[in-house]
Amino acid sequence: MGTANVRAIKDMGSDINNPYFVHNELKIFTIFDVPHLLKCFRNLFRKYNILLPTVTVATQQQLMQARWSDIKIAYEQDKKNPLIFRSLHKLKDFYLYPVGQTAMKVKVAAQTLSRTVSVYLYNLVQQNILPPRSLATATFIQEMDELFDSLNASARVAPDGKPFKCIVSEESGHTSFWEDAFRRVNQYKFIRSIEIAGTSVSNYSNSSAFAVDIANAVEIGSLQTLSVAYVSGFIIKKLFSNFVCDRCSYILSSDDTEPCNQFISSKEFSNSKNKLFYPSKQFVIAVGIGITVLENKLPIICEKNNLQDVATNLLNQEIDFSFITCEEHFYFLKDFLLKSICRIGIPWYCTRLVRNLRSEASRQMSARTKRKILHK
Ligand SMILES: [Zn+2]
Repeated sequence: MGTANVRAIKDMGSDINNPYFVHNELKIFTIFDVPHLLKCFRNLFRKYNILLPTVTVATQQQLMQARWSDIKIAYEQDKKNPLIFRSLHKLKDFYLYPVGQTAMKVKVAAQTLSRTVSVYLYNLVQQNILPPRSLATATFIQEMDELFDSLNASARVAPDGKPFKCIVSEESGHTSFWEDAFRRVNQYKFIRSIEIAGTSVSNYSNSSAFAVDIANAVEIGSLQTLSVAYVSGFIIKKLFSNFVCDRCSYILSSDDTEPCNQFISSKEFSNSKNKLFYPSKQFVIAVGIGITVLENKLPIICEKNNLQDVATNLLNQEIDFSFITCEEHFYFLKDFLLKSICRIGIPWYCTRLVRNLRSEASRQMSARTKRKILHK
């Protein structure tokens, strides 16, 4: 569902409220790439809690809030069982943190937003392992699963319990189901989930200690991270000078309210309009880890001929890129980030090395002069 396709459909006169165009007096209905829509929805759900429309408990919004984190809890709960008793045996760890190639697999999204997961969530709520609020997650996943089935079936007759997983006909009930689904989905409200938008410290919990330290330092905006944030801002400024993507911009940038961005905001020339670039926490953490890795490893690898390649490989192992959830630009961004860190980190290290060597040389020189004067 590239922008060109979207544009083409629009140009032919199809839009959300009237999803068709007329050709030779025939109405041709248009539909976006369904598997892709499912992946997009999964990606959104990772970032946002979703308030579902409700008829019964209008006052208690919390009750209707679907959260991605419920799936994680359910998955961890299920993992405690021996494999043969597991309900969610199709899910794997990486399904919950899909990046790059896995983020593009439809199967990963379909099995995560499946009826099995929905039913399992219902059970956990019944057993008081999850709070009643998690019913919203179960309901949301069930709706997604039904919607996907209704648009992705080839069977003439629907299988038991999956009434819309069949070809569309006048009797199949699709039309009224879609009308209802259209109304409901239209009423979804997206609320940025604190878990994802906030710290990414948890992603680094299995990683080296310094990575966790950096993530924590960025979180509170401690002094040494302010300059890293500044460098990160410089990198995204370069990136967005000839590149546009809303999703990437959402992932990489934030605003002056982040603690680590205090320094950048104090450099702002006028208060009326922010001109400098504010990096997101995840991005600052990635740059911070990258620069630290270079600092630690350059003394060992600096004499290698293919220094840039060696350094890139090292960075690749240490930086967690899972925060880049733009499918389209994952590899591009990763590559850009690795190159930028090398281009900034390596000369920076060299400059300081040379400066240190110079001051060491001048110290030795003055010691020699001193010895001469004192006739020692
Ligand atoms: Zn992008």
